Amino acid sequence: MNLNILTVPGDGIGVEVTTEAVRVLEHVCKKFNHNLRLSEALLGGVAIHKTGGPYPEETSKMALEADATLMGAVGLPEFDNWPPEKRPERGLLGIRKTLGVYANLRPVKSYPSLLDSSPLKNHLVDGVDMIIVRELTGGIYYGTPRGITGEGGEERGTNTMTYTRDEIARVTRMAFNLARNRRKKLTSVDKSNVLETSQLWRRVVCEVAPEFPDVELEHILVDNCAMQLILRPKQFDVVVMENMFGDILSDEGAVIAGSIGMLPSASIGGKKPSGAWVGLYEPVHGSAPDIAGQNKANPLGAIGSVAAMFEYSFGLMDEAKAVYKAMETVLNSGNTTADLKPKGTPATTVQVGEAVCAAI
Ligand code: NAD
Repeated sequence: MNLNILTVPGDGIGVEVTTEAVRVLEHVCKKFNHNLRLSEALLGGVAIHKTGGPYPEETSKMALEADATLMGAVGLPEFDNWPPEKRPERGLLGIRKTLGVYANLRPVKSYPSLLDSSPLKNHLVDGVDMIIVRELTGGIYYGTPRGITGEGGEERGTNTMTYTRDEIARVTRMAFNLARNRRKKLTSVDKSNVLETSQLWRRVVCEVAPEFPDVELEHILVDNCAMQLILRPKQFDVVVMENMFGDILSDEGAVIAGSIGMLPSASIGGKKPSGAWVGLYEPVHGSAPDIAGQNKANPLGAIGSVAAMFEYSFGLMDEAKAVYKAMETVLNSGNTTADLKPKGTPATTVQVGEAVCAAI
């Protein structure tokens, strides 16, 4: 198969983990005889430095031309006090919008060898296997009006949470379809006791449900969901929610998986002008300025994102399984980075990437 992949390493550890993800991608393509064409684009802080803005036109063009995009992370402390529209993170929102990837899939899985890395009791975590589906191109991160106006005591910050029926229905169908191929349970998260957007959300989810009679549907308020994810995480199979709720709740997955460095993500649903599907794959974590440039970052979230790319963009299940299995072998060997290994000598980012390739 011809795979035309764009890499967007971004900032901080984004660069380090993407290097290892690409190492694995190249290794799998060689092993399974795929023809890999790689290109690289700028996004985030590095793009501000080199082009003056976080999301260069060239990056948008290259992302639309690629079959799939593999991203690292963006964000540099030097831009922390910049206005939101100029910050590196705006590049992230830009590329998601360009590609129209409205569903962000965040698998959260417990690995037997990592049970002790979670601060939760083993029996709570053992066997957790869920996918959080976060709506990605709507809601409060994109809604207008937005901004800061006025002065003194009247200075006012405004953001707008808004959803259309179509935006809710398409991500709901995506989540139902995923559930249909798993344990057939979908949990929809909202705040319908307070927010009108959530009332519409719940109504549309209920309207879509009869299309999937084989899937059990339940609704849960976001505050209760935050608690249940820690109290009884095993009850969840596929969990669907709007953009900001998903951003916040999916970090709880890090507590279950043992480290945020473990979590991959796949953003799908978008189509190119040609009608072909596109996907955007990235670890859930950020640029981690505290450990950047030290060869300490856990690259398994990025490497898991490569597996997700094989699975969702190309339907190459054997290749995806080979990566997941190699990740498990490396975890079982104890050859892991410091976030998963409080005692003993940790492996470096590069060593983990090399070990995954060796295990494939
Ligand atoms: P972060 O995810 O970068 O880091 C949180 C903590 O987790 C840090 O202690 C970090 O060292 C650790 N960590 C993260 N990834 C790790 C890995 N792979 N291996 C080992 N440890 C890891 O979140 P933050 O500190 O809140 O944000 C830092 C910057 O990243 C900010 O500028 C933020 O806006 C940006 N950010 C970007 C994305 C993205 O690009 N998708 C996501 C979240 C945050």
